[in-house]
Amino acid sequence: MRRHRKTKILATLGPASNTPEMMRALFEAGVDVFRINMSHTDHAMLARMTADLRALSQSAGRPVGILVDLQGPKIRLGTILSGARMLKDQEKVRLVLSDSSDKPDEIPIPHPEIFQAIKMKHALLIDDGKVRLRLLRKGDDFAEAIVEVPGQISNRKGVNMPDTLLPVSAMTPKDRSDLAAALAIGVDWIALSFVQRPEDVAELKKIVAGRAGVLAKIEKPKALESLEGILELADALMVARGDLGVEMPLEAVPGLQKRIVRAARKAGKPVVVATQMLESMIVSPMPTRAEVSDVATAIYDSADAVMLSAESASGAHPLEAVQTMDRIARRVEQDPMYQEIIDAQRHAPDATTADAIMAAVHEVTQTIQARAIICWTKSGSTALRAARERSRAPIIAVTPSVETARRLALVWGLHCVTCEEISSLEEMVDRALGFAQAEGFAVTGEHVVITGGVPLGVTGTTNMLRVAVVGQK
Ligand code: PGA
Ligand code: MN
Repeated sequence: MRRHRKTKILATLGPASNTPEMMRALFEAGVDVFRINMSHTDHAMLARMTADLRALSQSAGRPVGILVDLQGPKIRLGTILSGARMLKDQEKVRLVLSDSSDKPDEIPIPHPEIFQAIKMKHALLIDDGKVRLRLLRKGDDFAEAIVEVPGQISNRKGVNMPDTLLPVSAMTPKDRSDLAAALAIGVDWIALSFVQRPEDVAELKKIVAGRAGVLAKIEKPKALESLEGILELADALMVARGDLGVEMPLEAVPGLQKRIVRAARKAGKPVVVATQMLESMIVSPMPTRAEVSDVATAIYDSADAVMLSAESASGAHPLEAVQTMDRIARRVEQDPMYQEIIDAQRHAPDATTADAIMAAVHEVTQTIQARAIICWTKSGSTALRAARERSRAPIIAVTPSVETARRLALVWGLHCVTCEEISSLEEMVDRALGFAQAEGFAVTGEHVVITGGVPLGVTGTTNMLRVAVVGQK
């Protein structure tokens, strides 16, 4: 079974979609990687969903990726004993270090570190930025602020502090426990929320120790300041537009999306565009024109994957949302302008043998209009460099490792298949032609380009390009 598009679809599981039947329907409609959001999932549910997805992958005979998204250090208000309160324009309010408060003029925040880190004039945004405060004065366990954008606040609403570098680890005790559970079960990607610095990614990578790919969610202004450093350590990025659009002016988000997608493509690492892509489909079976255009824009930018959040997790039309994304991707990718646009953004190869080979693979593929690129990859790194070229032909990534195949499910253009170790070049060509034919990529007489490393079975040796014709030796 093959997809007729290169852009991947990532869908979040939730009450609207977490039965084995819905998982299968969503997979068949086009989901390549499923996201499990630990903000709303306990360990028993994580284990059950993972088992169901592995069973689905087994019965479909295709690698299905699983991404576990850690909640991260989301700051929340404490409990206001009256439940909610209205903050008036220009009102001065007192924030106190406490789990709860019953004084009408106090707002409890149970996070000591924010009272240390916040500086004069820094902003505090409550409830996805609906209410905005600015700091006037502070002590160790209190702060005074003025209301700049009035509105109602209520218990446990989220707080964003875009100006403040928070001296907190990107992982809370809950994240550590969720991470341990996810690694014990064995998942393909771990996403880290509210990354602020490269060190946050380094900390996670150390614990993960290669057992999963590490994806850094870019949703803080501080992360944008050290995007290069984060990108060097992370295995993938997400443009997490939900929180990014709270922490930055909304009108800055489209430009940042382009910047993040380009940086990831240059580095040859997958990048996901996320949040509100088909938001109206939470309630409506039809998207808006603007939403279709938004998904299309991410695809024209050559993002590796587009993501559904509430649309597939709790919306009324999860299947239609996936079908809509699939249709948009297929249509955009057939537009001659699509290839023109992504070709114009091609980056020069790094000065490595693997990249030189991949640049040659790209040229040869375009010149002879080869139907597929078949790439032998063990760790997945060769397939990532092949995808970085964004060639017209689809890439069949052949790997002996099922973990590699599942992780690469997130990557633009890769159709992953697993195969036992081979022992000769002859066999490599034979198997490659077999896959191209069996999976419907090429028919007798059509060219394919094969790439890999000799000696066989040694990682990091990509040094070979071979053109072969289906049906001929
Ligand atoms: P979230 O991340 O859904 O976990 O908040 C995505 C985003 O912020 O866009
Ligand atoms: Mn977020």
